[in-house]
Amino acid sequence: AAAENSVKELRELDKKHFLHPTTPIKEQQVEGPELIFESGKGIRITDVKGDEYIDGVSSLWNVNVGYGRKELAETASEQIMKLSYGSSFFNQSHEVVIRLATKLASIAPGDLDVSFFTSGGSESNETAIKIVRHYWKLKGQPEKRLIIGLENGYHGVTMGTTSATGVPEFKNMITEIAPGFLHALPHQTECEKGDKLHPNYERSIRGIIEKEGPENIAAVILEPIQGVGGVNIPPEGYLKAVRELCDEHDIFMITDEVITGFGRTGKMFGVEHWDVVPDLMSVAKGITSGYIQLGAVMMSSRLRDELADMSEGPMFHGFTYSGHPTACAVALKNIEIVEKEGLVENAREMGEELLKGLKYLEENHKITAKARGMGLMAGIELFKDRDRGEGFAPELFAAPTVVAACKQRNLILRPLIFGGMNAVAIAPPLISQKQDIETIIEILSDSINEFE
Ligand code: PLP
Repeated sequence: AAAENSVKELRELDKKHFLHPTTPIKEQQVEGPELIFESGKGIRITDVKGDEYIDGVSSLWNVNVGYGRKELAETASEQIMKLSYGSSFFNQSHEVVIRLATKLASIAPGDLDVSFFTSGGSESNETAIKIVRHYWKLKGQPEKRLIIGLENGYHGVTMGTTSATGVPEFKNMITEIAPGFLHALPHQTECEKGDKLHPNYERSIRGIIEKEGPENIAAVILEPIQGVGGVNIPPEGYLKAVRELCDEHDIFMITDEVITGFGRTGKMFGVEHWDVVPDLMSVAKGITSGYIQLGAVMMSSRLRDELADMSEGPMFHGFTYSGHPTACAVALKNIEIVEKEGLVENAREMGEELLKGLKYLEENHKITAKARGMGLMAGIELFKDRDRGEGFAPELFAAPTVVAACKQRNLILRPLIFGGMNAVAIAPPLISQKQDIETIIEILSDSINEFE
């Protein structure tokens, strides 16, 4: 009874004092939080009632090495005792931030060998956007400032990144997007290669560049695989076409690897699947597996040197927690774990199992379609009647309903219902084993069965 009372008390206090991120405020106010977590181990997470769940989405696609890693806790603790905070403002530095920047340079694609540190994905993308605009301004081309994102792309919640985001729901809080942000239809490979007769040409990146004039465009920003927008994998050749398009017009290509970085897709970075090297790359989430806040923007030393040559004073941009020692130490240890335990390879292998399972679901359930995945970043769409391609009855709210049914069976998944999407995301920690994948597929199958 005491335990029950304490859960009740926590729920009441939550309702009273806590405004949750990306949560219907009324629902939280009336019903209180659905789950209150207390502990985690491996791919499992336990709530205050003692119920254990498989975390089938690595929380926010970030707990890549799983919960409860003692070596990460020890690393954080040792670093705090050694140097609890160290600023890298005003040309100061400290050892772990230097070591992490060096490590990142050794694993990043192509010539991306310089890092600027932040505390997460939004700050990383915001920084990338500011850097490219700063670059063109220094170059005497301040009008080259427009940023082209993709519809259904997600880049964060700051003003700049909200504006770069193409998922409509995430723009609800602002009355207008910041000036200078445009959105193209995703994955229009033929248009990006130059097919002007294509019906979507005007809405492609190339069509927008043509209309606005390349002299007005600073950068294109996109995720190698769209996450929040529905786990949308680009067709073969797409990213390369965008790379070539950016080169053709002297436009920066920023890739947002916040979800896809550090092994999630079965390669260390998502762009490696298509042999593309961006000019700037944002990372966060998997860099520390969510043990502590950290993000980075990576670029080539060539770009950094150009900025240096053109600049007079400092770059007036930096967060108090840029390169926080504890976060950097945890990131280094986390990357060591990813490498030592072969988690990139495991993500690839388990991803194949997962996709096989999802394809099986697609074949054996009437309401499922479009199973897709790369490594342990996968999704499946839910329809009322797949053959007729008709959307699942809105009153059933398919994806959230199936996800709720999974939760009843102690599996946490995530519905992706933005921009008209009706999909379920499956992205378990990179340490998942074959048995875990089978359990996830079984539970998902049983949950879908409830609706057929
Ligand atoms: N970019 C992508 C692709 C993301 O998925 C996210 C978060 O989900 C972000 C950026 C924003 O990162 P953060 O929430 O750490 O600010």
